[in-house]
Amino acid sequence: MFSNFSTPEKLSLANTPTPFHRLVNTSNSLQNCNVWLKRDDFTGGVTSGNKIRKLEFLLQDALLNSCDTIITSGGLQSNHCRATAALCAQLGLNCHLILRVDQGGRTEDGKVKLDEGNALLSHLCGAEISAYSPSYYQNNLNEIFLSYSQHYENKGGKAYCIPTGGSNALGLWGYIECAVEILNQCRDNEIEPDAIVCASGSGGTQGGLSLGCYLAGSSVPVHGMAVCDSVDYFESKIRADVHEWQTCFDNKVKPSIDLKNSVPLFTNDKYIGPGYAKGYADMYATVAWLARNEGVILDPVYTGKAFHGMMEEIKTGSLSNCKNIVFVHTGGIFGLFPKAQHFNIEPISSEY
Ligand SMILES: *Cc1c(COP(=O)(O)O)cnc(C)c1O
Repeated sequence: MFSNFSTPEKLSLANTPTPFHRLVNTSNSLQNCNVWLKRDDFTGGVTSGNKIRKLEFLLQDALLNSCDTIITSGGLQSNHCRATAALCAQLGLNCHLILRVDQGGRTEDGKVKLDEGNALLSHLCGAEISAYSPSYYQNNLNEIFLSYSQHYENKGGKAYCIPTGGSNALGLWGYIECAVEILNQCRDNEIEPDAIVCASGSGGTQGGLSLGCYLAGSSVPVHGMAVCDSVDYFESKIRADVHEWQTCFDNKVKPSIDLKNSVPLFTNDKYIGPGYAKGYADMYATVAWLARNEGVILDPVYTGKAFHGMMEEIKTGSLSNCKNIVFVHTGGIFGLFPKAQHFNIEPISSEY
């Protein structure tokens, strides 16, 4: 795709290019700003969302290395783990998920509930699930990965480890490709985008889009709306991934620039609220507003916070002078159902 870099092979698993359209009612509600939606919530059914774009590259690599088992990690309601479980079922691979589970995901006697949202789907797709408390998970994740890898090796198998969110050098390719897709769709619609906005959880989407736009010669800023952690965390994580990416894929045909320090990054951590996967009233109100006004459903963990943050920044902040903004809908609908109580919906009485 970019002649100075060697593009790795990938599996064809996602429904791409995904649709791209103007949010008519949202744009009409704003003064002088068009919001365009990149529908990466349409990349698949049970595999929908942003993770499948990274997994096309990561699972291809696993197959090329003759691995028979995928090990990956995330929260109990991880979209990444659910997409991985479904794709492993499709490809005939074993899937082992290492999940971080707090009190909210447990029964009174500490057992882990697998009957809701993404956890239900991962379970149905046949994934082996191992659950850990947040503190144990945080302090021992590498050791947990290593011990399960060893376990499969001892049984004569071969495991392939994918980091949380699929965010590493190889995974970046998914959103480098998507950046090109978005820039082409902007050209087809005869618009010059002033900003691209996405949610940031493990940084691979923001990192891939930022690097992809830069390599494609576009100066459009990619705004990553953090749903956890800080601006410093994301910027150092993304710069490390970009550095690794350049180490792996730069053909060095001419004196190459140091991409890690050249790609501009824009991260906003003002809309996280109480913490990862913890919502707040204004965010839930934005999710409900968009559903009513566009028939588009956001999720409360990622896209709800990112879209809410974007609308606030259009009204008063860093996006206030933009004429055309592309919001990347990264999926996550199954994470909405376990949070239904936050919409405070009262039962209604029956008519007869
Ligand atoms: C994982 C995820 C994100 C964040 O993407 P990263 O590449 O991890 O930063 C955004 N939206 C949804 C729905 C996700 O599942």
